[in-house]
Amino acid sequence: MKEIILCKYGEIVLKGLNRGFFENMLISDLKKRVAPYGNFSVTHAQSTAYIEPLDDEADIDGAIETAKKVFGFVSIIRAAVAKKELEDIMRVAADYIPQFLAGARSFRAEAKRADKNFPMKSPELAANVGGAILSVMPKIKVDLNKPDVTVRVEIRENGAYIHAGGEKGAGGIPVGSAGKAMLLLSGGIDSPVAGYMMAKRGAAIEAVHFESFPYTSERAKEKVLELAKEVTEYSGKMKVNVISLTKIQETLVRTCDEEYFTLLLRRFMMRLSERVARRNGAMALITGESLGQVASQTMQALGVTDNAVNLPVFRPCIGMDKEEIIEIARKIGTFDTSILPFEDCCTVFTPKHPKTRPDLEKVLEQEKRLNIEELEEEAFATLDTIVVCAY
Ligand code: ATP
Ligand code: MG
Repeated sequence: MKEIILCKYGEIVLKGLNRGFFENMLISDLKKRVAPYGNFSVTHAQSTAYIEPLDDEADIDGAIETAKKVFGFVSIIRAAVAKKELEDIMRVAADYIPQFLAGARSFRAEAKRADKNFPMKSPELAANVGGAILSVMPKIKVDLNKPDVTVRVEIRENGAYIHAGGEKGAGGIPVGSAGKAMLLLSGGIDSPVAGYMMAKRGAAIEAVHFESFPYTSERAKEKVLELAKEVTEYSGKMKVNVISLTKIQETLVRTCDEEYFTLLLRRFMMRLSERVARRNGAMALITGESLGQVASQTMQALGVTDNAVNLPVFRPCIGMDKEEIIEIARKIGTFDTSILPFEDCCTVFTPKHPKTRPDLEKVLEQEKRLNIEELEEEAFATLDTIVVCAY
């Protein structure tokens, strides 16, 4: 029996005149994703993408798993293909559907005709399909209100598709459709989640990671690259810009008051990230900050941080509890890597009593003690770029 994968569009069905733009991105992304799983044709019509295996070798399970990670689809459905003739539809339904009804007590059949040339009306078609299933599963009940499983027949341009529901898609809108943003990626739990969340809203993601060798290790960097790679399961290929903050941190320790270290460092991170962003065409910064999580994430501290840059700063985790962030980290597969115990540059030279309600004027006074431009130039000169991709 021939199977096909139907991927149903999410929000982009609401896009008016721009729809073609979103659709092209979505389909080209999907094509790239399924290519490693064998010979498939990927086409689209009526708010659905069709992934059709072209030979027996094509790995349908693999293609489904990868399609579930493409932003822009709300459901991914495995279906059997029948000819657009009632007899064939009933035969395929009786043959294909029982495996999905194992253990179910009730079902209902629904039909939808996207192709109105099909000679039978939907309710009648549904009744026939229900009958075909009952003929091979006489014990199962039909329940039109609260069935365990809903079986659907879709009559479309190129064939009739029969299925018992699909799996949830990744949601969101196609990666890149919103432009590029620069993710400040640490080795923690929050920032990979933040990157995932903004990719879901259409941002193409590039990352900056700050290291502080020898205070941070090579393995800490490897861990961050691994995290970036895990995020690319959803976001697609990512460039990671690694910058050393060693000199800046050593200078801060020598020159500034301890309670301001973290804030001053964060302002350096933001400015350097803005520089990388502007150079590489990113229009916003992304961080994993969450209101009140630590001293540098109070409203006052975030105000001081934002003041250092002139790009929008997206903080998708800002209103989330740690538990909620962890739930997403687990779902997207970054959690286990995030909790590997390596040092981060934020955790070296941390003040004992950081300012939780900093006053911007005082922070700016501290910065007057530094040659910011020179320190940034030097840090920028350490930039090293690595490209990662999980597929
Ligand atoms: P955790 O999950 O442990 O909170 P975190 O990455 O959120 O880790 P924070 O100290 O809360 O760590 O940092 C706040 C944000 O600042 C991070 O979400 C990240 O966007 C950015 N950041 C922190 N350290 C770095 C770093 N070394 N390189 C790049 N960005 C960083
Ligand atoms: Mg955090």
